[in-house]
Amino acid sequence: SAEAPMKVLILYKTTGGGHKASAQALKDAFELNYGRNLEVTMLDVLPLCAPPFNKSDMYYDFMVKHPFLWRGAFAWSSTKWGERVGFAWYKVGLVDNLKKLFLQTSPDLVVSVHPLLQVPSLAALKALRVQQHEPRRIPFATVVTDYTTCHATWFDKGVDKCFVPTVETREFGERRGLTSSQLVMHGLPIRPAFSMLSSNKSRLRQRLGIKRGLNTVLIVGGGDGMGPVEETCVALDNRFEGGEGQIIVICGRNKKLVKSLQKRKWSSNVVVLGFVSNMHEWMSASDCIITKAGPGTIAESLACGLPIMLNNFIPCQEAGNIPWVIDNGVGDYSNEPDEVASTVLAWFRGGLRKMRKKALGLGRPEATFQIVDDLVALIKDTKWEPFKSGIMAKDLSSKFAVT
Ligand code: UDP
Repeated sequence: SAEAPMKVLILYKTTGGGHKASAQALKDAFELNYGRNLEVTMLDVLPLCAPPFNKSDMYYDFMVKHPFLWRGAFAWSSTKWGERVGFAWYKVGLVDNLKKLFLQTSPDLVVSVHPLLQVPSLAALKALRVQQHEPRRIPFATVVTDYTTCHATWFDKGVDKCFVPTVETREFGERRGLTSSQLVMHGLPIRPAFSMLSSNKSRLRQRLGIKRGLNTVLIVGGGDGMGPVEETCVALDNRFEGGEGQIIVICGRNKKLVKSLQKRKWSSNVVVLGFVSNMHEWMSASDCIITKAGPGTIAESLACGLPIMLNNFIPCQEAGNIPWVIDNGVGDYSNEPDEVASTVLAWFRGGLRKMRKKALGLGRPEATFQIVDDLVALIKDTKWEPFKSGIMAKDLSSKFAVT
């Protein structure tokens, strides 16, 4: 039609890789299914934040490497006072900048894939309406990209929709007062490629240039190749005697790890890779995965039917993923490389098929498309509500001054 395309703005923040990956997955699915009727923009709000928050990627990288700091910050910012102080800071720069952004871009929908963007975005959207006497309400949705344990600020009663990946996160949302019409559970958004997987493992292995008939273990440490990847690879290689198995190690953006692994002599078949863009193929070609407990990698592994051996996690937001994987019967956890290797070898002697079936049952490769369909429906269903100046200004002034 000749209608102007609807504009969707997806807000993320570069702290860790997962949020951006989910934003990209949504954008890809929007474009695949809605093509020219939609214009999707992904925006990193980090540069919009007032100092010191515009450097929060640095703090995040630092804190995640020093778990006691991260645990403290995470717990404190989840308390009522922590939330207040945090948002007072945020307000300094972010709310006004977001307001300007919304004014300039005039989106038909704003989507957040980050735990700290609900309050400032909703405040900016409200402030904009007050300022402009705008009868149009811009709908706002959250897509939660943590799997089990997560930050309280993911959930804000002011959102139109909040998409959650699991029962655990839905219950958290309910405890924060969101209604059942706000909370929608489809699954974690993963790239559309994971819903179009090849079923012929042998042909896929051939195409990827790896051995066809061997027990194949994939090792990853998230997008940044974190954790005991090398030690685990060595432990497993020691046990794969006489070349009976093969190990695919994906180091992500960790170039040092690639170099270090390439220098070693292996007794089994070890394939060392840097950052790959066809993770869905490497997963489909493998028999099981050893990984950090990242939500993206877990959701993708399930979609590919891979049993999951967890060997590392980021404290707080990834900690709950460990009991989740174990209780659902799709894997195990150990931080001892030797134990990781022996557990995986035991799986090959029996049990792999049962876990694979369970993993496929839990995988939700269609989630991304379902979320995108719901978001388009949200744009269409949002009514032009007349603006009531008194009420709006009052409930705003309690939290955020309107300029
Ligand atoms: N990933 C990728 N190529 C790589 C390494 C990782 O595409 O070489 C992707 C992986 O498929 C997943 C994401 O990076 O989508 C990692 O997200 P996760 O939530 O597991 O961990 P994070 O790195 O965000 O801590």
